[in-house]
Amino acid sequence: MWLATTLILCVVLAGVLTATRRREATWLDKVSATLRTTGDDGVPPQTIDAALDRLERAATVEEDLTPRRAMAALDQMSTGAVLADETGSIVMRNRMAAPFATGRHGDALVEAEIQARLTDALGGEVTDAEVRLHGPPERMLFIVGSPLVVDAEVIGAIVLIDDVSEEQRLDAMRRDFVANVSHELRTPVGALSLLAETLEGEDDPVVVANFLGRIQKETTRLSRLIDDLLDLSRIEAGAGDHLEEVAIDPLIDDVVAALRASAERSGVSLQVEHASASPEVIGDRAQLFSALSNLIDNALKYSPDGGAVHVRVAVLAGDCAIAVADEGVGIPQRDLHRIFERFYRVDRARSSETGGTGLGLSIVRHVAANHGGRVEVVSQEGVGSTFTLILPTRATTQVDLEAVTGGTG
Ligand code: ADP
Repeated sequence: MWLATTLILCVVLAGVLTATRRREATWLDKVSATLRTTGDDGVPPQTIDAALDRLERAATVEEDLTPRRAMAALDQMSTGAVLADETGSIVMRNRMAAPFATGRHGDALVEAEIQARLTDALGGEVTDAEVRLHGPPERMLFIVGSPLVVDAEVIGAIVLIDDVSEEQRLDAMRRDFVANVSHELRTPVGALSLLAETLEGEDDPVVVANFLGRIQKETTRLSRLIDDLLDLSRIEAGAGDHLEEVAIDPLIDDVVAALRASAERSGVSLQVEHASASPEVIGDRAQLFSALSNLIDNALKYSPDGGAVHVRVAVLAGDCAIAVADEGVGIPQRDLHRIFERFYRVDRARSSETGGTGLGLSIVRHVAANHGGRVEVVSQEGVGSTFTLILPTRATTQVDLEAVTGGTG
């Protein structure tokens, strides 16, 4: 990518430099040719004034716009470009590179690197450097200088400046994710290996039954983690191809039916209050099912025995709000902004006790975003939490579509 951009730029800029030189070189040829050739009237110019006049007219018609087009194109790029001639004098900076010449502090650092890269490049070397600007916001710039060589002669140098902050942030996120997944997988796999080892040669049927139960629990935890990871990666890829009209009331009824047994096992009552209208959402039913199951499952998991979970649906200003309220442990204020991160748990021990993967709320947040909606939370420790999934209803989606397509879509 870098190499391709550099090559394209070098070709364009070498073209700009050589076009300028060629123009100077051919100027005299043009003057003498104009003096020698005949004009529209069939005769060569008779006076110097007439020759100059003809030359001027010819120049206006022939003006080569390519260098100006190249300059305009360079200004459109998100990469900074600085071009120097063979003496090291800067002959062009595009729009992205302009601020470094006049800026202070961080910009001055960048400018010093640009000059160093130009010097190396004029010596025939391709060199690069990274500059970290502490910001805010913190930025990482990648600066590379290359000589511009035409007919084995260095006719100038180009320095390209790219902002690689986002790339580096994504790389760091990917590395963290892989480290987290490996860590999460290691726990149940480690437990399984230990349990299997201990079972070997164990004759007592009570101990064997106990260990087998624990093996089953760890296997369930492992397969839940894998399911959640697969769900998350599918959901992160977007809303999918399965868009349909999804009626919210029956969807909630299906989720509640799937979780009813678990609610009864935990001794938590699970109640649903539908809205007077029956909202519909354009979306991916499987994703919406997954988001609601995660919210209701969490409400049950973090509720005490004898607690109650209420699922309420309301339609407000064209949005459908599905609130899942519990009377459980609640979430400390300091953790509220982090609970939607992958693998973040307020209480790691409690989460693993309840078989949590730490991925449920990231799934919910992605599903909401995929449907043009959002998820909100209010919580108080020891009192309970309410998570609200807000989605545009089919009516608003239709209006938005009409606004976008001018009513023709
Ligand atoms: P987990 O699988 O651990 O439940 P989630 O991503 O679903 O992972 O939730 C992240 C964390 O947010 C949980 O570990 C828990 O600490 C907290 N949390 C989520 N929902 C609730 C809730 N209804 N009540 C209290 N804490 C919750």
